[in-house]
Amino acid sequence: MNIMNLLPGCGNEYKACLHTHTTVSDGDYSPAEIKKIYRKAGYSVVAFTDHELLRRHDDLADDSFLPLAGHEVALWSHKYDRGEPKPYDRVHLNLIATRPGLDAQPWLDARQCARYAKRDDGSYTPRKPEKCTDAEVAAARLEKHVREHPDKSRYFDAETVRALVREAREAGFLVALNHPVWSYLSLADADDFEGLWAVEVYNRNSELAPPYDSERDDFYDALLRGGRNPGVCCLATDDAHTKGHLFHGWVVIRAPQLDLPSIAAALEKGCFYSSTGPTLQSARLEGNVVRAETSPCKTVRIIDAQGVVGMQTASVDEQSDWEFKLGREPHGYVRMVAEALHGTKAWTMARPVPA
Ligand SMILES: [Zn+2]
Ligand SMILES: [Zn+2]
Repeated sequence: MNIMNLLPGCGNEYKACLHTHTTVSDGDYSPAEIKKIYRKAGYSVVAFTDHELLRRHDDLADDSFLPLAGHEVALWSHKYDRGEPKPYDRVHLNLIATRPGLDAQPWLDARQCARYAKRDDGSYTPRKPEKCTDAEVAAARLEKHVREHPDKSRYFDAETVRALVREAREAGFLVALNHPVWSYLSLADADDFEGLWAVEVYNRNSELAPPYDSERDDFYDALLRGGRNPGVCCLATDDAHTKGHLFHGWVVIRAPQLDLPSIAAALEKGCFYSSTGPTLQSARLEGNVVRAETSPCKTVRIIDAQGVVGMQTASVDEQSDWEFKLGREPHGYVRMVAEALHGTKAWTMARPVPA
């Protein structure tokens, strides 16, 4: 009998926020405050992903907390510079460093950098690239890594996105596609991406920005079905800028210990699940039988490349132990989504179905 574990990884569980902004760009809290806030709420890992500026916060590391160095890179449509109004297509990618000491930014753009660099007067309001003063751009250029890595054009087109993802991964970064719904990407755009480590299926910031959705699963399935992003993971994130963003989307990492090599390897291999509420204890496919243990939930669905391949609804409100048969042979991949009565969800990563 084929047994497939939808919740791989071993050792301990570490709660993580993988999309966070601080006063380095346009967040309300300093990096030290972010550590304090998340640590108090039971998180062990925070990826600091300020706009355009990779800053290491190694000084915040201790036995119970691991800061991950990262930054959020924006690629803008040519339309943006022509002053066309929103909505316009744009891509935001989070780059998270998997190796110690990484501080060179692939594809750094001094003008984008200057948009977010905190100014002398303490302001951090993002401004359009063309509105950045020469002095601000010059200041951004003085960064050590700017000297080492000359600017490249960063307009959003399929070729540029693919090149950026490839070079960032080669440099040692995990690359996540952020909030595709907020970015007005279509499912057809999923074919433009290649080599992504992850995509957001939930983003708290998007949820608070009508008319946008909080993000959805269908872009994840589009990436999985397209075949250019094998093993792509799915993330629930806060995209934390302000108080209202905190503690709504997170991942639970399964790793032997809390250090960069263990956590980076677990993230890379998809040894985690994402959640906006429910916890997952186990999720297995034994032949065509699904067995799972969750916190109390209303439904559990198994999804493959052709849609929902199996589902169970709690007989009374919610239940925690699940056992049901798939309705047919799964195709391509399988993943599990558990949904609680009030709508929060937990997502496993997709696993390939053995041929
Ligand atoms: Zn963003
Ligand atoms: Zn962000």
